[in-house]
This record gives sequence, C-alpha cells and structure tokens, in this order.
Amino acid sequence: MADKTNKYDENVPGKFYVDKECIACDACVMSAPDNFGMDDDDGHAFVIKQPGSTEEEEQCLEAMEGCPVEAIGDDGSGNGEPTD
Ligand code: SF4
Repeated sequence: MADKTNKYDENVPGKFYVDKECIACDACVMSAPDNFGMDDDDGHAFVIKQPGSTEEEEQCLEAMEGCPVEAIGDDGSGNGEPTD
C-alpha cells in the first residue's frame, strides 16, 4: 500500500502519486504513458499528469495494480484538488 506521506514532490497534485518505495521498473510508464514519467537522474517514477479521461483513469488503475512494490497510490487528494 502506497503512503501519501512518503510521496515524491515531483508528483503533480491530485489523486494518483508515486511514493519512495518505487524501484524504477518502468511498468507504470508503459501502462499509462500519458500520466507517469521517469526521473532518470534520481531513479524513480512520478505522476506527470492526473488522468483526464476514463481511459487514462483505467490506465492509471492498471499501473497501480501492476506496480510490483505497491508504490502507486490513488488517495493523494486532500491538497485542494478535486477528487472527481
Ligand atoms: Fe516505480 Fe511501481 Fe512505476 Fe515500477 S510500476 S516504476 S516500481 S511506481
């Protein structure tokens, strides 16, 4: 289970985020290329854009379910971003 108190600062604000358990396996970037990006210098993924369509939402959920270390969360709202 990802921990929103342990998320990377690069994540754009909102629901989805990557926390510091990420091992930079690239799976989420493959699943949801419009929403996840890789910080190659620091060696971890982060959310570059929150989903803006049902398709992107499904891809983000797929990425979250596919993360081998459960570093992706979908409970990161609460910072002023709408939840839906
Ligand atoms: Fe990191 Fe998980 Fe994405 Fe792999 S799938 S890059 S471990 S957040």
